[in-house]
Amino acid sequence: MSAPLLEVEDVGRQFVTRRSVLGRATATVTAVDGVSFSLEAGKTLALVGESGCGKSTLGRLVLRLIEPTAGRIRFDGRDVTALKERELRPLRRNAQLIFQDPYASLNPRMTVGQILAEPLALHDVVPPSRRAERVNELLRLVGLEPRLTRRYPHEFSGGQRQRIAIARALAVEPKLIVCDEPVSALDVSIRAQVLNLLRDLQRRLGLAYIFISHDLAVVKHIADRIAVMHLGRIVEIGPNEALFADPRHPYSRALLSAIPVPAPGAKRERIILRGEMPSALNPPAGCPFHTRCPVAVARCETERPELVGGSHATACHRASELPGANVVPRRGGRPPALEQLMNAFRHGTDRQGSAGVDTVEKPPGG
Ligand code: SF4
Repeated sequence: MSAPLLEVEDVGRQFVTRRSVLGRATATVTAVDGVSFSLEAGKTLALVGESGCGKSTLGRLVLRLIEPTAGRIRFDGRDVTALKERELRPLRRNAQLIFQDPYASLNPRMTVGQILAEPLALHDVVPPSRRAERVNELLRLVGLEPRLTRRYPHEFSGGQRQRIAIARALAVEPKLIVCDEPVSALDVSIRAQVLNLLRDLQRRLGLAYIFISHDLAVVKHIADRIAVMHLGRIVEIGPNEALFADPRHPYSRALLSAIPVPAPGAKRERIILRGEMPSALNPPAGCPFHTRCPVAVARCETERPELVGGSHATACHRASELPGANVVPRRGGRPPALEQLMNAFRHGTDRQGSAGVDTVEKPPGG
């Protein structure tokens, strides 16, 4: 088996939020904390979580656009964690970023031809005599007409602008693209087209993606593996099918329950998390999810759970004892185990150990 394209080991990032008059840091916030994962060439890892969970910061740490304060990042067999800016040129070429808002990321004063030719010149990808031809190839690759090279970004629709942003990322022939909410600013009807384009390009060019989204429904159609993040940490990571069929962390289950059910007659009750996400400035002790978790017990308030479980790993003290919950809806009803879990969410926590999932009868074979 070949080595992963990307290996992220125990990576963290703290930001200083307050300094003394002498410039010494007196308060910090941890945006990313002890995150580890690997990604193979041609595969997609989705980072999912609510706003402020650290997923976009993590994407930028991988690209070294933000410096990590802890951990190690290996890209294409090389440790890139401590490289100086001038040594980062191969990473800058091989790992690209696509933003949520393509309009903001495209220079409004440049034509599409100039926008696509710029990275070709910067990284000397093709000789000057071949640049115009390569620009045309890039436009065709993303489904746009080469005759559009003289137009400006404002002359395109949102979906077309995102295609241009993808073409610009592809110009330097990268191995990895970090896609930061690439479809969330687009109309629903355009989203599927852009997702299909990304999938098609992955198949043709062998690209690896880190796909950042707050929406599990979107990543279901593109991710090979999914990492659910909460307050800067991965709380569950596993293969796409396993995470959808058997979400183990209560937070993942709540996120999954928010996906609309497309099938007529199928039901799914939404799990509403009570309260706000705790502030990263002052995260709760123990499991950072315990203030909103309906199945928290006393241990959760003092002891932070580690991410354990091999290929499908979960950071929850109770992951093994919670009943399996198939959150994928069934026609006309829910599995009994999920019904029990829903009740726990509806009726509060079982910190005293007297109610809730402890008392749930396991379903046959569950
Ligand atoms: Fe965290 Fe405890 Fe809830 Fe598991 S049961 S998610 S450890 S609070």
